[in-house]
Amino acid sequence: MPKTKLMLLGPPGAGKGTQAERITEALEIPHISTGDMLRDARDRGTDLGKKAAEYMNAGELVPDDVVIGIVEERLEQDDAQDGFVLDGFPRTLNQAEALDGQGVKLDAVLSLEVSESEIVRRLSGRLHCPECGAGYHKSFDPPQTEDVCDECGHQGLERRKDDQPEVIRERMRTYEENTDPLKSFYADRGVLVRIDGEGSPEAVAGRIAQAIDAV
Ligand code: ADP
Ligand code: ADP
Ligand code: ZN
Repeated sequence: MPKTKLMLLGPPGAGKGTQAERITEALEIPHISTGDMLRDARDRGTDLGKKAAEYMNAGELVPDDVVIGIVEERLEQDDAQDGFVLDGFPRTLNQAEALDGQGVKLDAVLSLEVSESEIVRRLSGRLHCPECGAGYHKSFDPPQTEDVCDECGHQGLERRKDDQPEVIRERMRTYEENTDPLKSFYADRGVLVRIDGEGSPEAVAGRIAQAIDAV
């Protein structure tokens, strides 16, 4: 069986979502993004979504019990049994231990390494389609027709509420404090693979493909 239980680790704007989309297309495994699931719950106005929104808008982490619950449920579904790409989960040691407790063993944790100046450039131009969720960048990855989604034709790409300087700073701080320590956690288990996340999306995808083949 191919080894395809993957996780993308990296600071906000490192390119996790962009690369996860490519991996899921190439390997035909689901993309499981806690950020997307939480935004969806927020936009639908569910109780969970309302609770999560307060933390997300402030650039803080949504409490572990909330996030662990939704991921556990998602990983039990049929399409996730042979493989998946986790994007943005786990983000705390507690979450990583919960994944262990569920008996999920990751084959590779791909750590996207990107400089702080590049993160700021990427986040300050990030756009997404409110209709289908496709991601773009104003200068680095624009849609074919300005302001029109390539995937679904929706007009009117949007910026994320939390991609503004103050909240970005808080998210980076949160990342350093809570998520960066996961690198040594997974390095100790021999599954951490550091990927140079600079350069074009294609260049990064090439490095990831090589790393996955080598796992
Ligand atoms: P980015 O793409 O910038 O890394 P995400 O879309 O993954 O951000 O997450 C957006 C927000 O959703 C986070 O700032 C946080 O508030 C919340 N969130 C996402 N995943 C988690 C998680 N695993 N644990 C706690 N909060 C999370
Ligand atoms: P994350 O999920 O880690 O927060 P995204 O995949 O959303 O990151 O990427 C952040 C922004 O940077 C998006 O606008 C995306 O189009 C752009 N981007 C992603 N990868 C690259 C890259 N290799 N070079 C330039 N821009 C990129
Ligand atoms: Zn779209």
